[in-house]
Amino acid sequence: MFITSSPASRSPQTRTVAARYVAEMTDAADLDELVAAARTAYADRRPRSRGADDTARVHLPGGNTRSVLHFEPFPYRVASAEGAVQTDLDGFRYVDFCGNYTAGLFGHSEPTVRQAIVGALENGWAIGAVRAQEAELAAMLCARFPSLDQVRFTNSGTEANLMAIGTALHHTERSGVLVFDRGYHGGVLSFGGVGTSGSPLNAPYDVTVAAFDEVEPAVAAIESSTFGCVLVEPVQGSGGCRVPDIAFLHGLRDACDHTGTVLIFDEVMTSRLSPAGAQGRFGITPDLTTLGKYFGGGMSFGAFGGRRDLMRHFDSDQGGLLSQAGTFNNNVASISAAIAVLRDLLTPERLAEVNDRGDRLRADLNDLFATRAVPMQATGLGSMVCLQADEPRHLELLFFHLIERGLFIAPRGFISLSMAITDAHTTALLDGVASWALPA
Ligand code: PLP
Repeated sequence: MFITSSPASRSPQTRTVAARYVAEMTDAADLDELVAAARTAYADRRPRSRGADDTARVHLPGGNTRSVLHFEPFPYRVASAEGAVQTDLDGFRYVDFCGNYTAGLFGHSEPTVRQAIVGALENGWAIGAVRAQEAELAAMLCARFPSLDQVRFTNSGTEANLMAIGTALHHTERSGVLVFDRGYHGGVLSFGGVGTSGSPLNAPYDVTVAAFDEVEPAVAAIESSTFGCVLVEPVQGSGGCRVPDIAFLHGLRDACDHTGTVLIFDEVMTSRLSPAGAQGRFGITPDLTTLGKYFGGGMSFGAFGGRRDLMRHFDSDQGGLLSQAGTFNNNVASISAAIAVLRDLLTPERLAEVNDRGDRLRADLNDLFATRAVPMQATGLGSMVCLQADEPRHLELLFFHLIERGLFIAPRGFISLSMAITDAHTTALLDGVASWALPA
């Protein structure tokens, strides 16, 4: 039913048989051939998306303006999206398991969000003045997260993290920032291995990269240095949905307390893991928290907040010296959508449901991989799931196999369930993976 539209179902299954996993699929040259064949089959069936990609490359380097969306040979171009389904220019339909990398928690074109935005536009939008709604939203977020006494808004998670770091460094009068390997906090805060500097586009902070989920080195680093802040995702998202031992997060909390270092939880992704985010789920309260993604209901959104003594730096009445600029910090669409999200959509029951479904999917995928002896693993927590394979070409072959069945996961194996995804969808995904992972 939702698997593919007619153009996809026209194609005989034999087109993708060659892309299936079999135990002998270890020879590098064979894998290269299979990947090339899968890419060609994908491209040949999507002339409209291919044409749009060729056109886009003239004025957009790489053909896009958000690098993570690109994959070889070209990403299909979406014509419309509703609920759990995207439809591309060539008429193919895909169940969307990527969920806009967690920003699409409510599914596509969610009517409550649409109504909130359209309703708000009735009263004007490029206002450039204070409205009552931003205070309403701030109160809702502070009621929800234990760490938030006060909060301010930005346009993205990246910006929220930049603001949080700046606040912490100003407060502590220190310059060092401790982050973790494979930590991702935005396009200018993207880190690789321990001791490396990360993306060339990174903001020029005095950064040290320590090992994620290794409590002793992290504590030793904090105790022996003068970091102004520690910035951590309580569960890594882009870095492969890595769930740390709770002792790691407790260790960071204690070491920051000893040394007067500001502990920042980047909950841009993990806030979906419980009504009060990962901090609520794990029972650890950071000094500052950053938020983003789905809170804006799909509109651009970011927020940073925390203890009153830290946030007072933005309050000139309290002697605060920091001025947070940003033309769109209180833009009507994002603020109105976020209020509707918090008031109507983000109930504890719905969050529990989507996270439980993710836990079941992960367990079922891991059972399947174990039974079929496929060298892959599903990691993560709740509705954040990541498929991991030592051989990236296996992942790419699975990706194309699923695409041809109308099932879209992020090319790197990332899955973030939206509330529009049902058990029927996850069963279809499991069936899709099972039809690729042939028994040896
Ligand atoms: N922090 C985390 C944990 C993220 O996953 C992301 C985006 O993927 C960001 C921050 C950056 O958010 P944005 O893309 O809204 O700038």
